[in-house]
Amino acid sequence: MPFNQYPYKLPPLPYAYNALEPYIDAETMHYHHDKHFQTYIDNLNSFLKPYPTLQKLTLYELLKNPELIPIKDRTKILNNAGGVYNHYLFFDGLTPPSSSPNRPEGILEEMIGNTFGSFEQFKKIFIQECSDVFGSGWGCLVINNNKKLDIVQLKNQETVLEKNLIPIILFDVWEHAYYLKYKNRRGDYLENIWNVIKYPVINLPK
Ligand code: MN
Repeated sequence: MPFNQYPYKLPPLPYAYNALEPYIDAETMHYHHDKHFQTYIDNLNSFLKPYPTLQKLTLYELLKNPELIPIKDRTKILNNAGGVYNHYLFFDGLTPPSSSPNRPEGILEEMIGNTFGSFEQFKKIFIQECSDVFGSGWGCLVINNNKKLDIVQLKNQETVLEKNLIPIILFDVWEHAYYLKYKNRRGDYLENIWNVIKYPVINLPK
């Protein structure tokens, strides 16, 4: 991950703000990327200011070693470090829609079929997990310690790093991710976002 050390900088969006329309609108992208994501970056920099030793850590190291952060500032540093990590993955994991159906291929397709029965069945379960996130959080398809696919919910700005999981697909289900366009209809957002998901290519070490 680039931009992963203090002072953190907002990574540019890897596509145009309106590139995900009609599924995610340009106004939402401007607020989400330029305001919300920027705020996590600014807060993280400001909370790390008094800690030169923490500034030397990468974002990964910071999130994986919370015990290095003094207790009195631990929660606010982790919340914002998590916000930076999650939003980097989220925006990087989206891609403009194409005319062909957007589906996983190769090893990922095979793993989804083996684990959930079919891609359609996986989508249903994943959408349900995301709908069930109470309040603010994330839904994430991960590879777990047994090299199997699993779906986890993350509260607020928890990350999969703390749980030693590898993120594959990450959906932001905070209201700021969809409210301008979808209002209270989280379900419609969760149906539409599949059109702009960038499925990673998976290479599992033998
Ligand atoms: Mn967000």
